[in-house]
Amino acid sequence: MLPFAVRKFLYYGYQRVRTRMLGCVFCRIAAREANATILYEDDQCVAFEDTHPQAPVHFLVIPRKHIISLNAELAGEEPLLGHLLQVAARIAKEKGIDRTGFRAVINTNAEAGQTVFHLHVHILGGRIMRWPPG
Ligand code: AMP
Ligand code: ZN
Repeated sequence: MLPFAVRKFLYYGYQRVRTRMLGCVFCRIAAREANATILYEDDQCVAFEDTHPQAPVHFLVIPRKHIISLNAELAGEEPLLGHLLQVAARIAKEKGIDRTGFRAVINTNAEAGQTVFHLHVHILGGRIMRWPPG
C-alpha cells in the first residue's frame, strides 16, 4: 500500500479537483441548485436526507456558509454550531428517534472518512449502534 502521506496527497488533490470542477455539492443543495429531500431550512442551515443512508434514519444538517470542516477557523461560529445541533435534535424528535436514541457524527478529514468538504452533522438512528464505531 502507498505511504499515508502519498495517499493523503492524492485524496486531497482529488477532492480539490472535484470541488473545483463540480462546485460544492452541499452549497448547491443549500442554494437549491442540486436536488435533495429537504427536511428543514432557515437562514443559517439546511437539513436533508442522506442519499446513502447507513441507518433507517440518516439525515444531514449543514450550515449555509461553506465551512470546510471542524478544522476550519471557527472563532465566532459557536452560535452556528450550536444551532446545527439544536436543529438536528429537533428533527430527530420529529422522526421519533429521540427516545430510542440516535448518533450525531461529524467526520473530519481523511482518516475519519470525510468525503464532502462542507461541514455536516450526520444524524443516524432507528437501529442499534455499535461502539466503538468502525
Ligand atoms: P462524509 O463521509 O462524512 O463526508 O459524509 C458525506 C455524506 O454525504 C455521505 O453520507 C453521503 O452519502 C452524503 N451525500 C453525498 N452527496 C449527497 C447528496 N447529493 N445528497 C445527499 N447526501 C449526499
Ligand atoms: Zn459548500
